[in-house]
Amino acid sequence: MSALTELTELTAAEAIARIRARELDAGELFEAYRGRAAADDLNAYTWVADAAPDPLPAPETPLAGLPLAVKDLFCTIGVPSQAGSKILEGYRPPYTATVVANLLEAGSTLLGKTNQDEFAMGSSNENSAFGPVLNPWDRRRVPGGSSGGSAAAVAAGLAPWAIGTDTGGSIRQPAALCGIVGLKPTYGACSRYGMIAFASSLDQAGPLTRDVTDAALLLSRMVGHDPRDSTSIAMPEPITLPTATDLRGIRLGVPEELLGGADDGAGIEPGVRASFEQALKLAEGLGATVDTCRLPHAPHALSAYYLIAPAEASANLARFDGVRYGLRVGGESDLLTMYGRTRGEGFGAEVKRRIMLGTYALSSGYYDAYYGTALKVRTKIAEDFKAVFAEFDFVVTPTSPWTAFELGAKTDDPLAMYLNDFCTVPMPLAGIPAISIPSGLSDGLPVGFQLAGPAFSENRMLNAAYALERVIGFDAAAARAAG
Ligand code: GLN
Repeated sequence: MSALTELTELTAAEAIARIRARELDAGELFEAYRGRAAADDLNAYTWVADAAPDPLPAPETPLAGLPLAVKDLFCTIGVPSQAGSKILEGYRPPYTATVVANLLEAGSTLLGKTNQDEFAMGSSNENSAFGPVLNPWDRRRVPGGSSGGSAAAVAAGLAPWAIGTDTGGSIRQPAALCGIVGLKPTYGACSRYGMIAFASSLDQAGPLTRDVTDAALLLSRMVGHDPRDSTSIAMPEPITLPTATDLRGIRLGVPEELLGGADDGAGIEPGVRASFEQALKLAEGLGATVDTCRLPHAPHALSAYYLIAPAEASANLARFDGVRYGLRVGGESDLLTMYGRTRGEGFGAEVKRRIMLGTYALSSGYYDAYYGTALKVRTKIAEDFKAVFAEFDFVVTPTSPWTAFELGAKTDDPLAMYLNDFCTVPMPLAGIPAISIPSGLSDGLPVGFQLAGPAFSENRMLNAAYALERVIGFDAAAARAAG
């Protein structure tokens, strides 16, 4: 193993400790990662920094100059921010998203922008105008989506850590498929200012990291109330580094409706189920109790999500009209023709599908029947979780019903693609936090284990995930060696 490879084998927390102890130079670390990111053959990056910032943040800063990969959905001043869309080709925003600004302020350095599904719509990263991202565990397979570039970059050691966004699973599902940790915080914990909007009542930023400690560390510097986002709120307590070594007294609920039985909607793969059950045994070994729980409305979460998210997207995406940002087609013609041609050529097929679905769901004749009903289901789902959390600390499920699938396997069947989100969509509908950690391998591919807790239970959730991670002992070095 070369010295440079060794450097990029450190977790972010380990690298920060070495930089503080003056055993490692942040500039050298940045260069090691920059070299790897620039040679990226997974298509994980859409932009890589030319050089480390000069001067580098001081070793005493909380994040000690550590390089960060940022999903392209976040606006970064003067740096391409294209959200995986042709309609934002070449767009360089005049400001930086609050979450990114918070991390830079804490001593992070911008390593690159990562590829994603267009406007975060997708579960495989195949809906990007910049081409699909490859899974470092097997390059014929997808990394998951929509934060697929962030997940692949972290899994392959092309970044020490990354941030992404999760609307219906876009942090947790790619983390699961790439064998890393991904956390979706409580709605409002992170500011959405400067995050290119998909579905505003669901979108949340969060960390994608190699382990749970790094997730806590990165999240601790992302959160906070922001006067520029009125839905953001201060955490009741700061995010702290997890230390738990057991799960005594922790009650885990396994929702029958998401694990399914004979009429299992998601068809959880046997290898995924086996890994999940193995993790439950390990949790019991640490002192947790495991019982079934009921989320009676969870099977309808997917239908509600695929009305609410497209409805909000249809409104949010109205701003891309060829006037203000990125692409303009037919600028010489009249205004309506220019709008039509820009949107026609700028948006990809999935984005168009969502705009049409959302516009239909909101149309006056169908508003009550579709959008209105979906909102009622959403309330029921939030109430289901509330009832469960009166008796359980966390709800646990496999993150994704299956492991990474082959490129192209689901591109012709949007409904099959949407089923990826079966276990991850209920949580954002309820606004609650959830984390995915690797629970092992199935046929050589990583499986994700999901824990979801009540709003603002991030510290307790991180502790439980940390205790579990230690006994699972997942070794992700294989993917990094391949990357
Ligand atoms: N896969 C889901 C979708 O396509 C979730 C995406 C996300 O969380 N941004 O909508």
